[in-house]
Amino acid sequence: MYNHKIKADCLKNKTILVTGAGAGIGKAAAVTYAKLGATVILLGKTVSKLEAVYDEIINLGCEEPAIIPLDLKGATRQNYVDMSETIAQQFGKLDGALLNASMLGELSPFTQIHEQIFDDVMNVNVKAQMLISQALIPTLQLAEHASLIFTSSGVGNKGRAYWGPYSFSKFATEGMMEVIADEYENSNLRTNAVNPGATRTAMRSTAYPAEDKDALPTPEEIMPLYVYLMSDESINTNGKTLKAQ
Ligand code: NDP
Repeated sequence: MYNHKIKADCLKNKTILVTGAGAGIGKAAAVTYAKLGATVILLGKTVSKLEAVYDEIINLGCEEPAIIPLDLKGATRQNYVDMSETIAQQFGKLDGALLNASMLGELSPFTQIHEQIFDDVMNVNVKAQMLISQALIPTLQLAEHASLIFTSSGVGNKGRAYWGPYSFSKFATEGMMEVIADEYENSNLRTNAVNPGATRTAMRSTAYPAEDKDALPTPEEIMPLYVYLMSDESINTNGKTLKAQ
């Protein structure tokens, strides 16, 4: 695991948006950030899952979260702008955004990639990340130190047979992260990416249905890097893709 000792309350007074907060790694990150003192904004596709995470955070006695039901597949630039302006009005600033939601699409031989799958994966994993980042940056700039975190993958800097559009999309994600990191190098905003590594989630099970799930770390176990990048301890880290395990 990434070697970072988590300090209690290290995210106190921070407002943090997590996309894909209803399940898997995003859910673990949202709950972890809340436990460390942050007010979390839970964005995801399925309202019932977001409500369950909301309840879990309230039952832990943490700051009350906010819920934003949004499907990244159909959302427009205006949806993201409205969301960012609402965050600025309600919280005064945004200290961090974990862009975690993504879709796997279909694993298939390269010559059999469906155009529709390509379009969907690129829309959710690349275009939506660009639009959401464009909209959030002005609100992130209201914070003293702000952290924008993208989510890559092992196939985001080394292509792998049959991983098609998902792999292309993660290369693009790392490229986008580096462009933003370079543009905002001398500002309050740092931009990095996480490669979670094989983690016990629904997406992983879809990609590797036959593997022994118990041999994989849980989302909770890979949180040290997610906390490091969101906390002020990483204010001098910019433009990096770091491995959570
Ligand atoms: P899961 O599929 O378990 O969870 C993904 C989350 O993203 C879900 O909450 C899902 O919402 C949400 N989501 C998916 N599509 C959309 C959409 N169109 N709009 C809004 N929300 C959406 O994935 P993981 O937790 O495994 O993955 C999290 C991130 O980590 C991803 O970016 C993935 O690529 C990356 N990753 C994961 C690895 C692993 O081994 N698990 C390895 C390498 C990278 P809902 O539940 O409502 O559908």
